[in-house]
Amino acid sequence: MHTVTLIPGDGIGPEITQAARHCLEATGVKIKWEVVRAGTSAMEKYGSPLPSEVIESIKRNKVAWKGPITTPVGEGFRSVNVALRKNLNLYMCLRPYKYYPGVRGGFQDVDLVIIRENTEDLYAGIEFEHDKPETKKLIDFIHSLKGVKISDDSGISIKPISIFASRRIVETAFRYCLKNSRKKVTAVHKANIMKFSDGLFLKVAREVASRYEGKVEFEERLVDNMCMQLVQKPQNYDVLVLPNLYGDIISDLCAGLVGGLGVAPGANIGDEYAVFEPTHGSAPKYKGMNKVNPTGMILSGVMMLKFLGEEKAADRLERAVAEVIREGNKVTYDLKAHPYDPTAAGTEEMAEAIIGKIKN
Ligand code: NAD
Repeated sequence: MHTVTLIPGDGIGPEITQAARHCLEATGVKIKWEVVRAGTSAMEKYGSPLPSEVIESIKRNKVAWKGPITTPVGEGFRSVNVALRKNLNLYMCLRPYKYYPGVRGGFQDVDLVIIRENTEDLYAGIEFEHDKPETKKLIDFIHSLKGVKISDDSGISIKPISIFASRRIVETAFRYCLKNSRKKVTAVHKANIMKFSDGLFLKVAREVASRYEGKVEFEERLVDNMCMQLVQKPQNYDVLVLPNLYGDIISDLCAGLVGGLGVAPGANIGDEYAVFEPTHGSAPKYKGMNKVNPTGMILSGVMMLKFLGEEKAADRLERAVAEVIREGNKVTYDLKAHPYDPTAAGTEEMAEAIIGKIKN
């Protein structure tokens, strides 16, 4: 019996979490769920979007499965997702992007993995609001130090990239390759412009790569070129390792390559804890409509089953998902040729079809 922290999240989170949970349970793996609230629903109940019981539960159980959580834009609470990653030191975001036959608009034969650094870069949350005295101080300091005058009406976000975090994530990417019989790591950067941040990431990536010579292939790509390469020939890529911001953006691009956000799973993993979740967000406009695709959530459950050592159950569940997608009958609107196709299945209906395949 495994004990797992279950965070339904908000927006479409609760409905996809419920549907996906039924699918996981249908594999027969015994899981005791410890359900805790985070996000807007926790805000209403506890006055905090990330109550301490969430962190305590994950620390106790080591593994969590999480629905998406809304982050208000520009105002309101800071991202719960970023806070979770920081609090639990989940330094790696792992996102596999695989084409499942039957998915429309996807590139066939794509099977790539994104390994994104999760703790630093422009997402470190070190920000200076425009017009604040501390921001003015920083602007003056930079002027005196570097002779560069930043406009007084600027807001500033700091981009730290360290040797430690870069080495840790690139090492993780190479180890992932060896463990999962993958052949190539591509480091993505913009070191020609940001010489001291991305440049350092690249330098460290080269250093690490040299230790894996002969075992895992290594190449480098500028992030802008990477975008073009991915939309033209994504099949050429295997494992991509990226600093935080590029990792976030390229993840959505890759989701598009395999047919959209609805089918893309992910995980945030550290040395002690792991939190599995779909790539997509809380899609508030679809909340409570039993409309969205549960596949991203289910496939993040597949990743979690593997992590828990339940390989066979994970493979059975993934095969069931793949079969339902291939048949194309009981799939949600996003997997239909036309988004308003009246034959599109609801979230629950698609999950039931998957459960039917597991049982057969
Ligand atoms: P989103 O991923 O929630 O939705 C964008 C669009 O993608 C939706 O309108 C919908 O058309 C489609 N989509 C998403 N999930 C789908 C699914 N399961 N099935 C079918 N179609 C799906 O992105 P957004 O609108 O930019 O963000 C909404 C909120 O989610 C924001 O507050 C954002 O901060 C948050 N968010 C949370 C996470 C997370 O919890 N890990 C990740 C990304 C975004």
